[in-house]
Amino acid sequence: MGKQEKCDAGDFSVWLNKIEKARDQDAMDVPCGTCNACCRSSYFIHIKPEEKAALKAIPNELLFPAPGLPKGHKLMGYDQEGKCPMLINDTCSIYEHRPFTCRNYDCRVFAATGIKTDEKEKAAIASQVEFWKFSLRDDDDHKNIKAVQAAAQFLKTKKSFFPKDFLPQNDTQLAILAIKVYKIFFIKDNRETNADVNKTVNQIINQIKKATPV
Ligand code: SF4
Repeated sequence: MGKQEKCDAGDFSVWLNKIEKARDQDAMDVPCGTCNACCRSSYFIHIKPEEKAALKAIPNELLFPAPGLPKGHKLMGYDQEGKCPMLINDTCSIYEHRPFTCRNYDCRVFAATGIKTDEKEKAAIASQVEFWKFSLRDDDDHKNIKAVQAAAQFLKTKKSFFPKDFLPQNDTQLAILAIKVYKIFFIKDNRETNADVNKTVNQIINQIKKATPV
């Protein structure tokens, strides 16, 4: 493969605003081009009961009940190489009816947060992420990316201050969490002492508790 050019990830604040508001009906429109790294990265795909078209398009034998979720929520697994079984000849065979999880997956969360996934199964995504480049056009863009990256750094380095099982185990969810709580990091508090770190941890926990479940 030849040397790949940088991929335009868009204006940072425009993207941030969109991903903050993204809901099931509001796909992120990621300019993936021919990349299908996320379809090859050992993800379990969650499909909600209301996703009738996706549930119809996926063979029943590939679906199983999603642990810990109400009846009707399903998961689809992956093959021995980490590939989604719906990926055929490098193309999503149910693209028009693909689950919302796929429509809203956006690997730019790694580029935005600066979180480098070192999970072995996510190597294809990690190499793709290297090519994303956000445009930082004004003060807001700079302020926002700084806060997002400070949030990510805090979540990565202060894990031990959080209650057990509060933080997600995987890097993708950690990056998404950083985006949910970045506004806390607009204030450039000195978070060196344990008391200051605990204060920020409590702010994060309270904000997540208050947030509408996704
Ligand atoms: S359903 Fe399609 S888009 Fe979703 S992971 Fe599988 S191949 Fe990729």
